Amino acid sequence: MSATDAHPAAEIDLPKHEFLAGRIALDFCNSLSPARRVALRDRIVEPADFTSWAKRAGIVLDRAPSPQALARLRRLRAALIGIFHALAEHRAPREGDLALLNTELAEARAAERIVATKDGYAIGDSAPAAIDRLRHRIARDAGDLLTGDLRRIKRCPAHDCHWLFHDDSKNLSRRWCAMDDCGTKDKVRRYRERASA
Ligand SMILES: [Zn+2]
Repeated sequence: MSATDAHPAAEIDLPKHEFLAGRIALDFCNSLSPARRVALRDRIVEPADFTSWAKRAGIVLDRAPSPQALARLRRLRAALIGIFHALAEHRAPREGDLALLNTELAEARAAERIVATKDGYAIGDSAPAAIDRLRHRIARDAGDLLTGDLRRIKRCPAHDCHWLFHDDSKNLSRRWCAMDDCGTKDKVRRYRERASA
């Protein structure tokens, strides 16, 4: 029996939209949903959970992480949650969280190699294990987010959601994680308030 058979997606309470952040580092943060009541709060607890999460994100891993590799992924996730929730609240991230990201980034950068492509050259990742390459990719994406336009790092204002996302809209107008989820709930709530007023 494969890990997927042991843990079918239908049996866990997946959110309506799991990958809505627009950036993998933020989607990774959202795999822990402290404020979400409806969906499973932490979707990466066991090693097989990470493989399933990656698969749902469209990334096929050859094997599940070892317990140590999973612990490292969860430490990275905790640091990224600390950093990006701080930024979404216009606070400075904690030094310890930034230091952990720096360590991960240093390893990710050290694995970079120039590789030939059919059109020229690109930067590839020489880490042999797919799990390490994925962790590197998440760390690099977090580094790019931190050094990009911080106004675009936002958090859904719904009190029972608080998911992070990257606002790619031209005029920075994205407010909700998903218009047909928290956005609609807010519309309905405001409609009811007006109707009962
Ligand atoms: Zn939301």
